[in-house]
Amino acid sequence: YPWQEDLTDLMVRRLSEETNDLLRRLGRMAESLSMRAYAVGGFVRDLLLGRTNLDLDIVIEGDGVAFMKAWEREGYRVSVHERFRTGMIVFPGPRKVDVATARREFYEFPVAQPTVASDSLKHDLYRRDFTVNAMAIALGERDWGTLVDYFGGRRDLRRGFLKVLHNLSFVEDPTRVFRAVRLEQRLKLKMEENTVRLLTSCVRGGLLSLLSGLRVKSEVEILFHEALPLPAIRRLREFGAWEVLFPGLAVDSRTDRVVRRLTVFFRRLHRDLPPLEASLWLVYLASLLFGSDEAVQRSVMDRLHLTPAERHVLSLALFSLGAAENDLGGRGERRPSEICRALTGVPLAVCLFWAAATERQRIRRRLLLFLTRWHKVRPMLTGRDILDLGYRRGPLVGKILDALLTARLDGSVETREEEIQWVLDTYPGAAPDTERK
Ligand code: ATP
Repeated sequence: YPWQEDLTDLMVRRLSEETNDLLRRLGRMAESLSMRAYAVGGFVRDLLLGRTNLDLDIVIEGDGVAFMKAWEREGYRVSVHERFRTGMIVFPGPRKVDVATARREFYEFPVAQPTVASDSLKHDLYRRDFTVNAMAIALGERDWGTLVDYFGGRRDLRRGFLKVLHNLSFVEDPTRVFRAVRLEQRLKLKMEENTVRLLTSCVRGGLLSLLSGLRVKSEVEILFHEALPLPAIRRLREFGAWEVLFPGLAVDSRTDRVVRRLTVFFRRLHRDLPPLEASLWLVYLASLLFGSDEAVQRSVMDRLHLTPAERHVLSLALFSLGAAENDLGGRGERRPSEICRALTGVPLAVCLFWAAATERQRIRRRLLLFLTRWHKVRPMLTGRDILDLGYRRGPLVGKILDALLTARLDGSVETREEEIQWVLDTYPGAAPDTERK
């Protein structure tokens, strides 16, 4: 190999036993088929950085499809794209391993000398985006744990540089602009000077704007799933990327404020909320669009080919904030049940966005209380209990439960006994048989 380093110790220290074991098995399986397996990409990068990364990408020198079929015969679930000779194996855990085939036919590269890498791996790595993502770890018995680094990724990682592999990288694939900014910010790397220059000309030269709406959508979605999206949003602004992608967009300090609050609130509240992942990115998008004209906002929705459901969430977030502020405002005390009623049917992600977007403290507080506590409140009694109290089956039961929820939200009842008493007192005539079972 051009640049070798023995990572055996590092792998033992930093990877779980289960991961090491899995890598060994993948390597052995490849060898049993006269192929070679390498761990590549983000997994290798993150191992060297000491960051956990459970996404395992494997490149097979040989026939990746035959490799996956061999696992299938062993009883593992695999999904194979014959055409691209890529796919995925699902290991217990569940743990997914992505498999790709290094380009050339494997008979060109017999496993005669395992210490000499054939250039099919080199080709595969050269197609990647940045030097730090273009390293591999050999998984064979004899070359186990050897870092394969043709393009100086290890050195760049040590120096903290993010660097493209060649000058046409962004031209070949402008989505790498997003990837560059995302990795730079997440891994706290510094984009190397030439890479900055190439990225800038890709943006200024209009290449970014040639990307299809669906590809932009997918990149924006991934960007907004970062734990801290704000630095990447700002960096894209520095490069003028937002303006090129979405002409007329006004991204300013207000955007930053809303995004920052959204991140803080999500971190603080996510344990109190059902999973929001599917719509979280949409409300980050709402933060990005917040300061722009409605015409621009609508054109972004069109450009990204949002589904009707996504449009609904985004439109509600953007266009109903004013109405929500009216509903939730008011100087005096507002009962929790009133707030809950006003927010019935509003997706929780939208409530989170409104809490971040409003400048009215009182409204923000009410929204946050709704998100942390009130949205989860249910009466202790169930429909069955109401029937057991002697009430007749029918719409009345639902009405009683609704009223009971209001009573509970507003603090009129605490215990189960109090709920029973409250129902009997509030609906006395309606229960012909009040004998309790
Ligand atoms: P993340 O942690 O964000 O998932 P990653 O680097 O693991 O980052 P993946 O999208 O899982 O990213 O991609 C795996 C690997 O595939 C990368 O490390 C990189 O080598 C390569 N890759 C992904 N997308 C591209 C691209 N657009 N151009 C070139 N190589 C890419």
